[in-house]
Amino acid sequence: MDLALYNTLTKTKEVFKPINENEVKIYSCGPTVYKNATIGNMRTNIFQDILRRVLKYNGYCLRHAMNITDVGHLVSDGDEGEDKMLKSAKEEKKTPMEIANYYTQLFFNDLKDLNIETPEIICKATEHIEEMLEYVKELIENGYAYETSTAIYFDVSKLDKYPILTNVDVQNQKAGARVEVDKEKKNPYDFALWIKAPKNHLMKWDSPWGESYPGWHIECSSMGQKYLGEQFDIHTGGIDLIPTHHENEIAQSKGKCGKIPARYWLHGEYLLIDGGKMSKSLGNVYLVKDIKEKGYDPIVYKLFSYSCHYRNKLNFTWEGIEAAGKSLERLRNCYQTNLKGADDLTFEDKKTLEAIEERFHQAINDDLNMPLAMSAVWEVARFEKKNIEVAKLLTKFDTVLGIKIDENNNKKQELPEDILKIVEERKIARGNKDFQKSDELRDELLKKGYTVKDTKNEMIIEKI
Ligand code: AMP
Ligand code: ZN
Repeated sequence: MDLALYNTLTKTKEVFKPINENEVKIYSCGPTVYKNATIGNMRTNIFQDILRRVLKYNGYCLRHAMNITDVGHLVSDGDEGEDKMLKSAKEEKKTPMEIANYYTQLFFNDLKDLNIETPEIICKATEHIEEMLEYVKELIENGYAYETSTAIYFDVSKLDKYPILTNVDVQNQKAGARVEVDKEKKNPYDFALWIKAPKNHLMKWDSPWGESYPGWHIECSSMGQKYLGEQFDIHTGGIDLIPTHHENEIAQSKGKCGKIPARYWLHGEYLLIDGGKMSKSLGNVYLVKDIKEKGYDPIVYKLFSYSCHYRNKLNFTWEGIEAAGKSLERLRNCYQTNLKGADDLTFEDKKTLEAIEERFHQAINDDLNMPLAMSAVWEVARFEKKNIEVAKLLTKFDTVLGIKIDENNNKKQELPEDILKIVEERKIARGNKDFQKSDELRDELLKKGYTVKDTKNEMIIEKI
């Protein structure tokens, strides 16, 4: 079955054909590790995880690289403002390295909580200074870069076309369109490849141009090339990266080897909070930690995100999380019920399940259409007959969903003390075959908002 992906480069949904038949090479722009990752950042990571899982479902092996930006990302995303790492280090009275290590660890904890797979290659910018320097030197040799008193700039006028991903008319916007910070720039859209460090700057390296540090865009170009080659299959990131970061990565690669680095460019849309932007001043910047603190399994957020296609804006509400929490519980219970189910499946039943599986595959292969894929998942979950084959199909779907469908709600769910006490009492009553007491305790649990299902080996407690 063909896999179709929307390519920002061509602005069409295209049938995916990798360069090598079996191995797909992907580069994802990773986090700038200067602050906590928000659930917005995590939406982009969930989208990238789905892409990985869908490719694997289609039989591909992956070579996926993701960078950690620990230097060079300036506050403005362009060439203006302070380095985000340095700003944060000053605010938190720590060294940039301490900041980077701390937030990198938190980032990977979040990925683990959300059951997001770690890419095969994780590369830190500060560990690739040599490669970046070589890249910049080649751009100068090829005539695409020039030195000013403050930086080495990429000369966009040397390209046959700039920009490529967006339709900005650079020529007609020249006059006064952008705030000029460096009068030595030849064109307003020229961007910094390497920045000369002011005195007392903390993160700097020796270079042919004195003590200096890399620009943000050169990091991804040189690490992408190092680990995946001059041209690879897929490049991903959030939608905000299109007009500056990804445009400039393409420019750099064309200047160095004449190639657009990736054949397919995939971008995830933004997460909104209560219909608007997440912002500190509104007090609505949420982290994975906040979801956990409200008592939800963080995977609930992942399931919540499947209610929306990755190319559409998703609106976060706590009501939405509550509903997704119930759905996760239902799906996991349904898996457990089927695992122990003893209904026979007829030939017709098997055909019906095969047809649903086909619909699931079609949905994920249609540009990762998770809302449609979820409708197939629910068809299986509502399947009348309970049988281990149904459970197996749910596990197969879970290789894409990554919601740990085989996790037992009771093991995960932390029941309040008073409920646990009643459950324990009821276990004893049942052990003593005191069914009257056992029924009374079940009613008590019901009054407190918990249903009880007795199976051969266990008692399944569910919050209503
Ligand atoms: P930042 O740490 O704000 O630079 O964000 C890192 C990356 O996470 C951005 O480049 C975006 O691609 C992504 N991102 C940030 N905020 C959101 C959001 N609200 N929804 C989805 N992705 C986001
Ligand atoms: Zn990048």
